[in-house]
Parts: sequence; C-alpha cells; structure tokens
Amino acid sequence: MTSTPVSAPIPASAPDPDAPAADAPAVRSAEPRAQAVDTIAVHAGGTAESNDFTGVSRPVAVPIHQASTFTFDDADVFADAMGKPDAPFVYSRYGNPTTHALETAMAALEGGVAALATSSGMGAITAVLTTHLASGDHVVAQRRLYGGTFAMLRDLEQRYGVQVTYVSGDDPAEVAAAVRPNTRLLYLETIANPMTQVCDIPAMTAVARAHGILTVVDNTFATPVLCRPLAHGADIVVHSTTKYVGGHSDVVGGIAVFADPAGHRAVWDRIVESGVNPDPFAAWLTLRGLRTLPLRMRRHCEVAAVVAGRLAEHPAVSAVYWPGLPDHPRRDVVDRVLDGPGGMLAFDLAGGRAAADAFVHGVRLALLAASLGGLETLVVHPAGTSHRQLDAEQLRAVGIGEGTVRVSVGIEDPEDIWADFAQALPAGS
Ligand SMILES: *Cc1c(COP(=O)(O)O)cnc(C)c1O
Repeated sequence: MTSTPVSAPIPASAPDPDAPAADAPAVRSAEPRAQAVDTIAVHAGGTAESNDFTGVSRPVAVPIHQASTFTFDDADVFADAMGKPDAPFVYSRYGNPTTHALETAMAALEGGVAALATSSGMGAITAVLTTHLASGDHVVAQRRLYGGTFAMLRDLEQRYGVQVTYVSGDDPAEVAAAVRPNTRLLYLETIANPMTQVCDIPAMTAVARAHGILTVVDNTFATPVLCRPLAHGADIVVHSTTKYVGGHSDVVGGIAVFADPAGHRAVWDRIVESGVNPDPFAAWLTLRGLRTLPLRMRRHCEVAAVVAGRLAEHPAVSAVYWPGLPDHPRRDVVDRVLDGPGGMLAFDLAGGRAAADAFVHGVRLALLAASLGGLETLVVHPAGTSHRQLDAEQLRAVGIGEGTVRVSVGIEDPEDIWADFAQALPAGS
C-alpha cells in the first residue's frame, strides 16, 4: 500500500490542455484544478484540523462543537486570538469550529475569500447594511425586495438618516442616474420574489464599480449552484440559508460571503458587536443541508420544468412566471446570469383572488406555508397573505396580481405534484 508507483497514473479523462508538457517532471501541479460544484459541496470545510482530537483519526462529518468558550495553554496566544475572525477559536460569538466549517464551504461555493454565518438571513443582511451605511449615506436598491430587507432599509431611512433610492433593477442607466456623491451601496436580488425577475448582475456591478460603490446581492433564490454573483463583480453575497442551502425546513440561518478580506473583517466586527452569530447546532444542520445542495437544486429545476409547463397549458391559468420558460421577458439575462432556472415559480389564475384563494385551500399534497427552498412543495397567495394590505393598484405596482399564486417547487415526483395541482385548479375559463 505504501509503495511508490513506477509509472505515471493513467489519466481518468482526456488529457488536460493546461497540463505540463510530457517531458516535464512527473509532479502534481501546485495549482489545484478548480473543482465542480458537487465536489465542493461534499468536501469543502470538511474535516478541519480542530476535529483531530486523537492525532491518528478524524470524524468524516464535521462534529457539533457545542461549546461557548475555548481554553488556551498560553495567555499571549489567547490574547492574540481575540482579534481574529478565524481559528484559533476563543468564544462562540466570535467564531466556532462548526460554524467556521459552514463558512468555509459557502465561501468555496460562492467563490469568495471568506464567509460569516449568522442566526438568520435578516441577521446577515442587517450586519452587512449596518457595517457599510452610516447616517447621511445613500443606498440604491432594487424596488422588488424581500419584505424584511425593505423594512430594514425603511428603518435605516426613518430612524438613522440613511437615504434610499429605489430602482427597477432592470436598467443599469437608471442606477447610474440615481448615484449621488454620498452613494455607498447598491443592493440587488438575483431572482426576485414572487414574479422571478432576474437581475442583470454584471451590468449593474459595472455601474457600481465605475462609481466606487459596493454591490451587495441577495442570492437566496438562485443559490451558488445557479449563480455566483462575486464572479459577476459583486462585493458581498448574502443568503437566507433557511431556504435552499439548509433545504429541509428545519433551521433558520443566514450567511454573508465576501470578495475581499477587508470586507470580511469589517462585517465580522459588526457580527461580534451585534451578536447575530448562529448556534453551532444550527450551523451544523445548515452544513448538513449544504452537502446535497447541488443535487437538490438540479431536482428542483427538473420538477419545476414539468409543473411550469403543465400550468402554462392549463385553461384556468393566464400567465406563468419562471426563468426557464422560453418567453421569460429577460431571456437574454437569464441565459447570461443563471446556470439553471431554479425551483421558484408564480402563476396567475384568470379567476383572480377568489380562484387563487380556492387553489391554496384546495391543494392536499402541497402545503400552504411561508418560506421556500425545502424538500416539500409550498404554495402561497401573496395578495391574500404577505401582501394583503395592498389594494389591486398597489399590487400591480409591485407586479403581483390578485390571482397570483407563488410556488416553491419541492423534490417530490412531478406527476404527484401535478395531480394535486390539477384537482385544486378551477376547471377552466
Ligand atoms: C427568507 C428571505 C430572507 C430573510 O431570511 P431569514 O432567514 O428569514 O431571516 C432574505 N432574503 C430572501 C430573498 C428571503 O427569501
């Protein structure tokens, strides 16, 4: 088992064009080949050295380090560690080995230098916004925002003197026109809720970079499997890991991923001050979910394709919104920005609010529930629940109809989901 091979191993695939010439020494390249997303998800943040407690073997799964504090042999090492966002670990609000494994895995998936996990998606968003915005600063934000993010920005505006300009998110020129001398930050979402508009992230970050503005992208709906905003010029990516990354509807969490170490350090200070760190068990559950994220995302896309196609053909359905449909209004953007259409879709029922209300009450397999990205198909009627305070006119302004239903397509058999939807849909117009 320990003998040295006398000849070079047989390559498993076609020769790599970047491989050293045949006469080069038979050593492994110092540059590791970039791994595929499935491989990264399975291994990244894996068996850290901190898990090596016997010196001869290590657990394959990252253990739950359910400890609030860590002991040191040397007081100087201890003092030095207090100012560091990574190992050695001091106290679990500052950092924790289980949480750090999750952060390492998400940083690898998003192509960032580091990440910081938080107790919720809103924790990550709040930490990032309050790190980079002070009284008198200006932020340009996409109008179609997650409700909690909109509420946070409104609070920063009304109580802390931050200025906010909302833009459609479809037009880089609109962003350029909104920029002021005090603009610090551009805030975007890869795929917007619930009508699945897709943001042209590279065009938007180009404007932000030209003006020296930081771009923050909420990538919750797309996940790093379908989009990596840092590669498109964003500075920080935020997630509600409660959704697809955790993926099992059993843990609330968030994370911020950074393109540069200084950005990471600044938000770490804010997280330590504000205490939005996750519990190690929540971080562990999230990492356990992350391991199968690419597998699940492919399945969500596949099942959503069947459901979206059947809905589009149904006589009671007047419109379907899903990035995978050939008539998506931003087909060119979808093709450039996304590696897959995702599992979130919406549709309009011709029968309006009454029909949508009847549908969400009529489904038996799908569940009527908030949140998204879990294994099970969930439905909501935005006009009747999350946006019930808006009248028809206001709903139209945010792109939601009275008869709009949002679906988080799960990983069940698509025929079973369709059988359920078919019995809950009106007979047709
Ligand atoms: C759910 C969600 C959030 C907030 O995340 P929590 O984990 O609930 O705090 C932020 N952005 C988007 C797009 C979301 O769907």
